[in-house]
Amino acid sequence: MAHPSDRSLTPLIHHGYQPPAGFDAPQPAVHKASTVYFPNVAAVRSTEWKDKTGYTYGLHGTPTTYLLEERLCTLEGGLQCVLSPSGLAAIANVSLALLRTGDEVLIPNNVYGPSRALAEGELRNWGIGHRLYDPLDPEDLARCIGPATRLVWLEAPGSVSMEFPDLVALVRVCRARGVTVALDNTWGAGLAFNPFDLLPGRQPALGADVSVHALTKYPSGGGDVLMGSVITRDPALHLAVKLCHMRLGLGVAANDAELVLRSLPSIGLRYRAHDQAARALATWLQSRPEVVQLLHPAFSGSPGHEAWSSLCGADGLAAGLFSVILHPRYSRSQVDAFCDGLRLFRLGYSWGGPVSLVMTYDLAGVRGGWPAHLPAGALVRFSIGLEDVRDLQADLAQSLAAALA
Ligand SMILES: *Cc1c(COP(=O)(O)O)cnc(C)c1O
Repeated sequence: MAHPSDRSLTPLIHHGYQPPAGFDAPQPAVHKASTVYFPNVAAVRSTEWKDKTGYTYGLHGTPTTYLLEERLCTLEGGLQCVLSPSGLAAIANVSLALLRTGDEVLIPNNVYGPSRALAEGELRNWGIGHRLYDPLDPEDLARCIGPATRLVWLEAPGSVSMEFPDLVALVRVCRARGVTVALDNTWGAGLAFNPFDLLPGRQPALGADVSVHALTKYPSGGGDVLMGSVITRDPALHLAVKLCHMRLGLGVAANDAELVLRSLPSIGLRYRAHDQAARALATWLQSRPEVVQLLHPAFSGSPGHEAWSSLCGADGLAAGLFSVILHPRYSRSQVDAFCDGLRLFRLGYSWGGPVSLVMTYDLAGVRGGWPAHLPAGALVRFSIGLEDVRDLQADLAQSLAAALA
């Protein structure tokens, strides 16, 4: 009798099992591949990955990533989508695809910090200039656009100081000058407003050319995935992003794509729950003597509230994210002690997951000086998770009492 170790293991590789053709289930299959087989050489020569008519290599897409891309297009009202391994990688993909040496990119002065670091630390090395504009002043954007400006980034609202810009006015300025507009749409998530159609019903549609979404936040919803998307409505723009993406070797793991696919159906429910809880806590914090300013675009008195209201609707949606400025009488160590003293709120970056987060920012350092439109103090940002609001409020109350008495 042959020893078991002499057995050919080929049947373990060329095995006969095929999943049943009629197996239709709620969750899509997780297709993993680097290699994709071709039936013959003619197919190698004729299969095209750029328009999703075929599969050639795992990096260029699998049924799992294509499915996620299609669903994200549905979420955001776009036509084409490219996935990247993080939100920041998606931002980099757009800038590297659309900018050349000698070009200039404009970014808002309240932009997501690492996006600015990309311009200062990498784009500059490639001879690509950048300029910061005031997103609350469309005329400032108009003044900043020069002959070398090829791309303008928008963000609504800025991720720490939460000013909500007049996106319609900013897009109009760019349209008038023929400059491509990319929007960091992570906050709106395709739910608070349509990034490609800011004035629904108006023809032709007015909106961003490119929408970037850190799927790390609400689409993932778990605090356990890093991913980003670049969504467009123009085939030429999409191809530029896609080719750059391919040349840089950007890809996403199938299991990560599966996690986002699993979470996407509940994004609307979660977004509303985060929003409601955040507004309840923001209302309570705003009434506290320790707080001199609430920064949440759905609250009147918050910078850009009117722009939020006209874009998203007076009874519209907002993400579960806000900041407060604490009274300047508190020392840095008192503010740190307040953050450290929270028990349910964990100290950490990011947002969109079930656990509430807190973070303190050196706004003056980040912005090169304290913004003139904000009262002085210490900025603390909260990302509201899915815990019971009463428990979160009690947590805030106990730490305020302990640290800022
Ligand atoms: C988190 C975030 C990003 C970057 O996403 P990562 O996946 O963390 O790289 C970009 N823009 C905004 C507004 C974000 O909140």
